[in-house]
Amino acid sequence: MARGIETKCLHLEEEEGCSSNYGSVSYPIYQTATYAHPSVGKSTGYDYSRLQNPTREHLEKVVATLENGLDALAFSTGMAAITLMMELFSPGDHLIVDADLYGGSIRLFHNVSEKNGITFSSIDCYKEDVESYINENTKAIYIETPTNPMMNVTDIKILGEIAKKHHLLLIVDNTFLSPYFQNPLDLGADIVVHSGTKYLSGHNDTLAGFLVTNRKDISEKLRFLIKTTGSGLAPFDSWLVLRGIKTLGIRMEKSQQNAIIIANWLQGQNAVTKVIYPGLPTHPGHEIMKKQARGFGAMLTFQLESKEFALAILEKVRMIKFAESLGGVETLVTYPTTQTHADVPEEIRERNGITESTLRLSVGIEDVKDLLDELDKVFREIEGELHDQKES
Ligand SMILES: *Cc1c(COP(=O)(O)O)cnc(C)c1O
Repeated sequence: MARGIETKCLHLEEEEGCSSNYGSVSYPIYQTATYAHPSVGKSTGYDYSRLQNPTREHLEKVVATLENGLDALAFSTGMAAITLMMELFSPGDHLIVDADLYGGSIRLFHNVSEKNGITFSSIDCYKEDVESYINENTKAIYIETPTNPMMNVTDIKILGEIAKKHHLLLIVDNTFLSPYFQNPLDLGADIVVHSGTKYLSGHNDTLAGFLVTNRKDISEKLRFLIKTTGSGLAPFDSWLVLRGIKTLGIRMEKSQQNAIIIANWLQGQNAVTKVIYPGLPTHPGHEIMKKQARGFGAMLTFQLESKEFALAILEKVRMIKFAESLGGVETLVTYPTTQTHADVPEEIRERNGITESTLRLSVGIEDVKDLLDELDKVFREIEGELHDQKES
């Protein structure tokens, strides 16, 4: 019988009932660079940690199970995973990519991959006619859904059908929802990308990345590339991600619950001109999310009436941290213009709707009353100060 995802976060089915590793319930950290051979021509199956490491392998099996994939590969960061994925392509290849993406992915595609002879069409996959951008050298479609930071939602199944029809790979960065809420491989994707730094590890204490696939040919290519280029995740970091994943379910549920409350609170503020959260029934992607995901996540973006107001929030928050990153237990507020999306050319930022009064919130698992208390205090203070400035 198929196990529920919360159980899969804790137990690898194939290891149930085995008492290897002295019955250790927490998987051991094999902090070794190399492995001794019993004799010439014999190997324990482990030769060198760039190629194989039991702790990393255990994590990879857990993540593959969570995404219903055949294989998962663990990398030192999310960007290391995406960089390696780009090695599947050759000079002359063309990719269709979402216009609104994590800033680091945009930087990689336009500053590194283009130099290597790969070309891109950056389009709004959630609303444009994707098929009309396909030409004879198009090899893949690369999306995020919801996108970072504008929370655009694309129908994965429809894109999967287009990709299949034209023999393209569909690659989905699933960082924002985690496998707890969404499984793109089940909807027709060929490769799933994760920044494991975010929800999977979940504690703002380590960097990690993943590629997951359900295709044997892709898995073999990626395995060859990771052992050759050497960007695999270190044993201790693998263990940290394993520990984080154990609580993925309760963290996702609690942070989503808090996010819904905060989204509604923000909607009631005079200074907030727009709240972009797919969990709100008014969000244009709400119905697609209900169809293809099991939740809406805990990321939300909002627009303030002015740049001044946005900056003042960043100055005044204390418990809520003004920091880059997302998906951890602590609530973080990010300023995309100067942080995650600083290297994205201004005209692209503007086209995507990221302005100097846009803030992004990664809602954590604090007592929501304390989050609301702080937000309320900060908003009232700023309103008072801006009012005083007008008077004088
Ligand atoms: C953070 C992030 C990445 C990059 O991951 P790192 O672990 O920071 O290298 C990629 N995609 C998305 C959606 C992200 O949020």
